[in-house]
Amino acid sequence: MDPKGPGRKDKTLEKDTKASRLATRGFFAIMRVIESVREMQKCSETVRLSGKKIGFVPTMGYFHEGHLSLMREARRISDFVVTSIYVNPTQFGPKEDFSKYPRDFERDHRMAEDTGVDVIFYPSNDEMYPPQYQTYVNVESVTQNLCGASRPGHFRGVTTICCKLFNIVKAHAAVFGRKDYQQLAAIKTMVADLNLDLDIIGMPTYREKDGLAMSSRNVYLSAEERKSALSLIASLKHAQRLYEGGEKRAEFIIQEAEKIIRQAPYTDIDYVKICDASSIEDLRLIDTQAVMALAVKVGKTRLIDNHVLGEAFSI
Ligand code: AMP
Repeated sequence: MDPKGPGRKDKTLEKDTKASRLATRGFFAIMRVIESVREMQKCSETVRLSGKKIGFVPTMGYFHEGHLSLMREARRISDFVVTSIYVNPTQFGPKEDFSKYPRDFERDHRMAEDTGVDVIFYPSNDEMYPPQYQTYVNVESVTQNLCGASRPGHFRGVTTICCKLFNIVKAHAAVFGRKDYQQLAAIKTMVADLNLDLDIIGMPTYREKDGLAMSSRNVYLSAEERKSALSLIASLKHAQRLYEGGEKRAEFIIQEAEKIIRQAPYTDIDYVKICDASSIEDLRLIDTQAVMALAVKVGKTRLIDNHVLGEAFSI
């Protein structure tokens, strides 16, 4: 029996956990929350001058294991980890879910702290887009297809906010999820074209045990819709089987994948496409590395997923 009696927490254990957490933190003993751009820049400058490497994970918050896997990677490759929580209004269309996007700062704070993050950058809209704001970054061709076609202006908002965040956080490396495949392609293109001085790292899609890609938006799904949402991973797996069986006609694989999604109730396909994995242009014949990308509304919730054909599925 616990010598401290039943129901009592073992304080030594609690201390040890905290100590090991602090030992993994890079610079300050406790995680800081910074809301001002100036203060974040000063903090990053101090860390850089001390010779430490900064790893950065930009997010819109409402953390799940997918986000945490990026933070762990940032922790592994750098000395000081910054994550930003900012629901960026410029990447949402007028009819999209900006105002109801899920938010829970206290929960995110706890999760980031437990993952060994050093700083949460948590700016307000006024801080990021003051009244005279008028500058945008537009990456041209890789943003034309897929979500670029369905969500006009979305990637302009994404690349603009990431460019601003890179200048504020001054990271040596930023870690993104491949779940947002086209976003990652747009960011890599922007960084190369504008000669931004940081590495962009892409991490595998973190999935629930049954294969559903983790997403902050999954919280919108009812139990029935959640079952239907499994048609996305089922269609990607079927596409992979056809491809590995020698099928190279993109249109045929797409039709087969669409059948699976249509059979599930509450689904409404936005797109199912097979594209060149680098240029994100549609492929007719799969004769180069190809990504199958899906956007499907399940009930009112728009979900995306993708798979690079021939690669192993992530967890
Ligand atoms: P978000 O907060 O949805 O804007 O996502 C922030 C970062 O987390 C982006 O780089 C996403 O690609 C990444 N991300 C979102 N979901 C997942 C997931 N299931 N697995 C890995 N990374 C993810």
